[in-house]
Amino acid sequence: MNRRPSLGRWLVALARSPWALAAGWVFASAAQAADYTGPLFDAHLHYNDEAQSPHPLPDVLARMQRNGVHAIVANSRPNDGTLALASSPLTREAGVTVVPFVRLYRNRADYDNWFRDESIYQMVQAELSRGTAAGPFRGLGEFHLYDSNNADGPVARKLMALAEEKQLAVLAHVDDAAIELLMANTPSKGQKVRLIWAHTGIGGAPVERVDQLLARYPLLMGELSYRPGLTCEDGKLCPAWRALLLKYPGRFMIGSDTWVNQRWLYYDELMKGYRAWLGELPADVARGIAWDNGASLFGVK
Ligand SMILES: [Zn+2]
Repeated sequence: MNRRPSLGRWLVALARSPWALAAGWVFASAAQAADYTGPLFDAHLHYNDEAQSPHPLPDVLARMQRNGVHAIVANSRPNDGTLALASSPLTREAGVTVVPFVRLYRNRADYDNWFRDESIYQMVQAELSRGTAAGPFRGLGEFHLYDSNNADGPVARKLMALAEEKQLAVLAHVDDAAIELLMANTPSKGQKVRLIWAHTGIGGAPVERVDQLLARYPLLMGELSYRPGLTCEDGKLCPAWRALLLKYPGRFMIGSDTWVNQRWLYYDELMKGYRAWLGELPADVARGIAWDNGASLFGVK
């Protein structure tokens, strides 16, 4: 039997040496930051009519709980889903704080007409005075404007003024032009209204334009679901967006946007995706976007 060490055996021994292990660890850490592991505030959650049968309360709450989601901006079409989340003892047991918003839609037809439909304004007033078991409604939305000019619709104007007057946040799925029109429709011209820009512009407004709007409106917040250009290869942050998040660490939040049932099926993956890129940021910035920004906006402990 030939007992001389072969080249192959020598390489195997080298690869198993402490030096090789250390070098491998350094390489792996440089290539991949650890995921963010702290609490998450889901700032864009829907619990719509059609979700409630396939995903009853214990199911959606289990999804939040196992993903470390401790607070949610809840809204639903119609508002019953939000009221169910707000009133159930299961929600408290799951350790989830509900920040309820009034959805402007009773049904799908309202999507295209809410901004000029006086009955929507009356519905909002009734919901605001009714409140929820988890406390008063804290915001309005999500609403959509497929044509930015409808931001000047009579009911859109009244709701923006109401939001500022009652210090309600607004969750708006709109483009950058509509942000300016909505802001102009408040008494402070957008200086005192808390507008959460859903998806921070799903049409992909350039980073420079987002920067300009954040600078112009001090209480404008960006929610980051479906944001084009946010992540690049392997779910990592694209450089321009990383720079923007670092420039405005107090102005962004994450959200699931469970607008269709499929989003509930992928809730775990969505939250894992957020945790992966949050882990690339300095710890305090990651914690801000993941939790602190939403928690301080709504006074959640
Ligand atoms: Zn949505």
